[in-house]
Amino acid sequence: MTQTERIAGDGGPGRVGRDDAVVERLEVIVLSVPTSQPEADGTLAWDATTVVVVRAHSGRVHGTGWTYADRSAAGVVRSLLEPEIVGHDVMDVPGANEAMTRVVRNAGRPGVAACAISAVDIALWDLKARLLGVSLVGLLGRARDSVPVYGSGGFTTYDDETTRRQLEGWVTEQGVDAVKIKIGESWGGAVDRDLHRVSLTRRVVGDDVAVYTDANGGYTRGTALRVEHAMRDLGVTWFEEPVSSDDLVGLAQLRARTLADVAAGEYGWTLGYFEQMLAAGAVDCVQADITRCGGLTVWLQVAAVAAAHHTDISAHCAPQLSVHAAVAVPNARHLEWFADHTRLDPMVFDGVLQPVGGRLRPDTGRTGHGMVLRDRDVEQFRVA
Ligand SMILES: [Mg+2]
Repeated sequence: MTQTERIAGDGGPGRVGRDDAVVERLEVIVLSVPTSQPEADGTLAWDATTVVVVRAHSGRVHGTGWTYADRSAAGVVRSLLEPEIVGHDVMDVPGANEAMTRVVRNAGRPGVAACAISAVDIALWDLKARLLGVSLVGLLGRARDSVPVYGSGGFTTYDDETTRRQLEGWVTEQGVDAVKIKIGESWGGAVDRDLHRVSLTRRVVGDDVAVYTDANGGYTRGTALRVEHAMRDLGVTWFEEPVSSDDLVGLAQLRARTLADVAAGEYGWTLGYFEQMLAAGAVDCVQADITRCGGLTVWLQVAAVAAAHHTDISAHCAPQLSVHAAVAVPNARHLEWFADHTRLDPMVFDGVLQPVGGRLRPDTGRTGHGMVLRDRDVEQFRVA
């Protein structure tokens, strides 16, 4: 039977006969790992990181994907995505991604469902690469060998000493040339402390390391502009979500009046979201999260849309997964070496990469993305 006959005979791409490798089952594991101390940014506080891990099985091989999302994403995988994906040809990941998008129509693609789709999509890409016996970047093809990372954390709950230690760690141990701290504390109600912490950051890292700030949408347009003016003396070159990322007009207005690059996009759940943000001229660099936007499949599409707008993409969080996507596109500016994830990942996965000289480089000697869940060690964190 030819591929064309299979497609014609069973209702669409990806639904194939038993002699082909298919996805046999999805396994979902939910872990909750407490943070080392209470953490907050300008507009949210938390004390744990939840990771929803999906394993896609085909025969004796499985691929692993995950999303840093609420545990409800696991329910979406079990109730909506698994029935759709079991039986799918393991080679046809874009088809699986499209099938998942279609099946969540009434549940709503943005938010939790997009996180669930992302975890499954990443597991399927990993599974495909492992079945073919190649690295994930070998499967995708590389635009370059490695990608820069920037240190990211600087939570508003930290005292100065904690901030100092974190900043020094990134610069001396990871060799980064850029660091990012959270500002916009208490929804923009603590500007003096914000500026004190930016000033501290500049003093700790010196003049040769770029200083970035992230307000997580905590400021009004006017306050954001005044804060950016105050940060010019401190050489801040990246201002993330100075206002809500839903305020595309406000972002575009600020971008026209600031020296720092304006960045946003971490709450992008669909490809169309990123096109609207870029078409509005809202950002100098668009951010996309591979564990939220629809997985590797959609992240690569976002990078292409950004390229069409002559704009860089930066990978939001999830550095161990993002690196494989980022080396596959020419316009990835950097990865976010996010404190919560860089602490959590080695606690639950084997095969975690570490930056060298401020850059992360996939290991092409390992199949797939190279990471596996440490089953025995994660039981203590398991909540579903
Ligand atoms: Mg952010």
